[in-house]
Formats: sequence, structure tokens, C-alpha cells
Amino acid sequence: MAVTDHVNLNQFMEGVKKRNAYQPEFVQAVQEVAEDIFEFMEDKEEYHSAQILRRIAEPDRVVSFRVCWEDDAGNIRVQRGWRVQNNNAIGPYKGGIRFHPSVTESVLKFLAFEQTFKNALTGLPMGGGKGGSNFNPKGKSVREIMRFCQSFMTELYRHIGADIDVPAGDIGVGGREIGYMFGQYKRITNQFTGVLTGKGLEWGGSLIRTEATGYGAVYFLENMFATKDENLEGKTAVISGSGNVATHAAEKIVQLGGKVLTLSDSGGFIHDPDGIDQEKIDWVKTHKTHRRGRIEEYVEEYPNATFHAGKTPWGVACDMALPCATQNELLGDDAKTLIKNGCRAVSEGANMPTDLDGVHAFKDARILYAPGKASNAGGVAVSGLEMSQNSERRSWKEDELQQMLKDIMAGIHKRCEEYGTQEGGYIDYVKGANIAGFKKVADAMLAFGVV
Ligand code: NDP
Repeated sequence: MAVTDHVNLNQFMEGVKKRNAYQPEFVQAVQEVAEDIFEFMEDKEEYHSAQILRRIAEPDRVVSFRVCWEDDAGNIRVQRGWRVQNNNAIGPYKGGIRFHPSVTESVLKFLAFEQTFKNALTGLPMGGGKGGSNFNPKGKSVREIMRFCQSFMTELYRHIGADIDVPAGDIGVGGREIGYMFGQYKRITNQFTGVLTGKGLEWGGSLIRTEATGYGAVYFLENMFATKDENLEGKTAVISGSGNVATHAAEKIVQLGGKVLTLSDSGGFIHDPDGIDQEKIDWVKTHKTHRRGRIEEYVEEYPNATFHAGKTPWGVACDMALPCATQNELLGDDAKTLIKNGCRAVSEGANMPTDLDGVHAFKDARILYAPGKASNAGGVAVSGLEMSQNSERRSWKEDELQQMLKDIMAGIHKRCEEYGTQEGGYIDYVKGANIAGFKKVADAMLAFGVV
């Protein structure tokens, strides 16, 4: 018998687990995709014989490197850096850089794997990658962050390029860090190219890039509710996180007439029964980004709100939930609680925030549930538009970009609908996103032969 992918899902996953021992996040991400893809591939011999799923689940390369830097007290510090280049079948590798103490090779491999499907779903020519370091920016001075970013880029620069691999921001990496890394890249290579996205407007950045992930996740919610002839007016939302994605998701919900009840950080969540309006969102943005404050201080500013230390917000009754902090922050029991309390829609702003039990609970309850690879693709989509603007050496206007973002999110929704609609009209967005993303990448890989 030929050695093909003609194994069942369990056999395939056993192989993935064996080859990726001690990488639970990566195995979890592959499992979630494989559950849908196996069914889709059943009668498609061309994908089996070319071992396409096996190949997509094996990164093109994983680069790991040492990052040394000097802290303000003159101590030498040593961190580990990575760039995972998962797949470039449909375009240059593209995906963010994360600085957080929880970063491991497993986390970055899962993110790069997810990114491959997400980028394909946008309809733009981008492959999948992800990078980062276990560096903890919390409590570091601005100078320390600059020195770390420069040291990180001093190794990373040889693996990236405008047509090779274009990183962006993620947890712990915002405009400031992108600036330090871009500055160092330019200094080493003497080239001003679109090698990073999320840049400042004065030096090649795109309007609405900062807002795009959060706004896009809410546009996706709108598209989901539109299938029920409903909009967001008067609906309540529970959001986790208080960073870039969470605050911009909150902003768009408020703009569309919804009411935001919660935000959180790694210390706990705040519940504001009066609703977190634009003025309060602006306060959170300044407090978390510029003052580097904690979300618990919100209750000193707005005393009607309560702070719940060490807790996640999923017990607060709502019409819709948006996990916008990090992976595996919404577990099976949380999903069941949300459903029991009347939650009708979930749009993931974060990557893989719901664990597999939670995913199954949402699917079983047949609520509107969008996985991050579909609903948070707005950020990378506008990054793709930033790359186009850099190549053309021009800038599009804000209203043009807003419209493009809306169109891209509607396009992703349509692709999910095409591959995810089940008997009785229920749309399985997880399945739809997995199949649509897989098919595009797989067909390109088939065209290249065995490479
Ligand atoms: P930020 O660094 O701006 O904010 C992250 C938020 O999540 C903070 O409130 C942070 O709290 C909280 N958080 C981080 N880790 C944990 C944890 N282990 N437990 C609880 N809370 C945690 O990041 P972003 O908003 O950019 O990213 C959030 C999510 O969205 C990530 O999953 C990211 O991969 C995803 N994403 C981001 C995109 C973007 O364009 N930025 C694009 C697509 C997806 P604290 O301050 O306490 O650390």
C-alpha cells in the first residue's frame, strides 16, 4: 500500500502528538482543523496522495535564536526568540510578533498554523508565520524595551523581507516596539521597505491598522446576526482583555448601538452595569497603553463598576461574548455558563481563546460562533493592505480602508457560509473557515508539486 494520508483522524493525531511532544497548544490547533478537514478530504484522493494536511501541519521552518540585552542596572539578560514560517504557498509569510513570558515554540507554532488559514480566508496573497520571545515587557523601562527590540531584530533581520516574511505586532508588541524594530532593520540593511506592518503613519503605516482587528471582529458579528435579520442595537456584550483588540471591539460595539459590560486583564475583570461607553473606553486605552496601568483601577474612576480579582468575565449574562485576551481563556464550563445565561453569539478577537470543550459546547448549542481565524482576520487583512500601499508607495484614505475592511469581513463570512452551512440552515463557522482556508492553500500546494 502506498504511504498516503489514508489514515483515520485518530491515527493522524497520534502522529502529530508523537512528532510534537510537549507542544500542547500546537497539537490542539491541528486537532481543531483536522476534525473538519478529514471529513472534507474523504473523497478527494489528490489531497491524500500529496499528503497535504501532513505538510501544512509541518512548518516550513522554525528559527530559534538567542537574544541578549543589557538592563538598566547593567545586568546581561538572555531571552529566546523565534520565527515560525509555517507556509508560503499563497504569499510571503505574514503574522505577528508576541512578547510575553508565556511564549514557547508550541504557542508560536499553533499561532503560525492558524495564521496560514486565516490569511487564506482574507482573500489576500499572504502565507502564514508568527514569531516572538519569552521577554516580559511588563515593568521594563522604555530604554530596556528599545534595547531588547534592537537585539531581537539584529538576528531576525536575516530571515525576513518585504517579499519573504513580513511580521507585525501581537501581544506585547504595539506601534512603539514596531518602531524600534523597523529602525534597527533599516539601520542594518540600509533599506526602507515594507518589511513590518503596524508602522506609524509617518513612516509607511496604514490608517485603521490599529483598530482593524477589534472592528473586524464586530463587523463579523454583524454579518452573523444579519443571517437572523438582526443587528447589534441594544444587545449586551461581555469582552475579555483590555488591550488593542478588546478596546477597539468595545468601541465598534458602542458605535453600533450595543452595550459593553466587561473588560479584563490578567489580574481579573471589571463589570460596569451602566455600560462602558466611548469616554470610558478612551480612559482604558490611555490607562493601559500610556500609563501601563491595571484594569482594576477602573473602579476607582467609575465607582458603579465592580472588580473581580483572578476571574474571567464569562459568568456575566449577555447577548454576545468576545474573548479578546489570549489562548485558552474560555473553557468548556465557561461556554456552558454563557449558553445557559442566554448568550447567542461569540466572536473571537483573540487566537484560539476557546478550548476544544468550549468549541464543542458552542457548536452543540448551535449558537452563532465565529473562530478567531475568521473573526479576527481584519487585522492581518489591513496589514495586507499596508503591504500593498508600501509597494505602490501610496496611502489610501480612511473611508476607503474602512470600506475595504468591511468588504473583507463580509467576504470571509460568505466563504464560511459556503463551506459551513449544515442541514436546517445552521452555519458551522469553524468548519466553514477551516475548509475554505485549507482548500485555498492546498490547491496552491498541489500546483507546486512535491516541494
Ligand atoms: P495586547 O497586548 O494589546 O492586549 C492583550 C490583553 O490580553 C491585555 O489586556 C492582557 O492583560 C490580556 N492578557 C494577555 N495574556 C493574558 C493571560 N495569560 N491571561 C489573561 N489576560 C491576558 O494584545 P492584543 O490586543 O493585540 O492581542 C489580544 C489577542 O488578539 C491575542 O490572542 C492576539 O494573538 C490576538 N490578535 C491580535 C491581533 C492584532 O492585530 N493585535 C490580530 C489578530 C489576533 P495584561 O495587561 O494583564 O497582560
